[in-house]
Amino acid sequence: MTRLGLAANRLHHQGEDAALFAFLRASEAGIRALSIGLHAVGRTHDAIADAGLLRGYAPLVRYPYGRDGGLMKLVAEVVGMPAPGHTLDGAIYLIDPVDPSSIFPEALALKRQCVIHGKPFLSTVASARDWVEMERIHAGLPPDRNADRFYDLGAQTVALIAHDAMKSSMLDFAARNFDVLSRFAQRVGTGTTGQRLNELAWSRGWPADTPWVQRFHSGPLGGDAQIANLVLERRCHRAIFFEDPHVARQHEADIQLLERAVTTATHDAVCTTAPAVAQRWCEAVRLRAAMGG
Ligand code: PGA
Repeated sequence: MTRLGLAANRLHHQGEDAALFAFLRASEAGIRALSIGLHAVGRTHDAIADAGLLRGYAPLVRYPYGRDGGLMKLVAEVVGMPAPGHTLDGAIYLIDPVDPSSIFPEALALKRQCVIHGKPFLSTVASARDWVEMERIHAGLPPDRNADRFYDLGAQTVALIAHDAMKSSMLDFAARNFDVLSRFAQRVGTGTTGQRLNELAWSRGWPADTPWVQRFHSGPLGGDAQIANLVLERRCHRAIFFEDPHVARQHEADIQLLERAVTTATHDAVCTTAPAVAQRWCEAVRLRAAMGG
């Protein structure tokens, strides 16, 4: 059974149109079809119950309130706990970037441990919806037409960014999925990542006078901030960002800025930080296309 942690900042579970409810309304059928376990921190769990969503769904489990350690418990479970049923395969954490609790240490650790353990960290409605559809496709279910927009690559821009220790993973990923990535209307990237990817593309016959990736500044010189601006303007729809969580990063603020920009576009922007998840998504693109999606 696949299990995810689930938490949403206050803004995202207040009011009928809140992000948490938008996600569940769009993905409840898929969550039920796949029997996805959801370990939800107290207030998020109670908001779901009050909204009458996931009614009677046993795999939705209530965790303590944040102030009682609910989010901290999710971090431990992402790392993995010996008790059966207490290891998470990833986390959905719908972030409101101006909610101070989104930068509490346990919130940052949740993301970081997902990255370290190669598990999905889904911080936006679009990321969570896209993940459920990806899993539906891998389970052999027919495409959900309400998720078509996540596969409309010809109308979208993807950002490709990798820290130094992850650049070879990014190049491997791009080489394996050159077909899928080439279907996007546009690819953008930070300076050095973009250069390496362009060299790969040219070596594979991409026209020599055309960059495969539109390069921005190198990350430490502001490339993340430039790409964040595209996300804010809804001109970049997907960020595939292979982070190195094991080093102190001189441009940590810029990295966080980009991630926060993604969360301000919660309904529109998908962010993937795990190479295994990015690979699984590209495979879903091919499978879905073969199913007529
Ligand atoms: P780079 O930037 O592609 O220019 O190395 C990536 C980063 O460090 O954010």
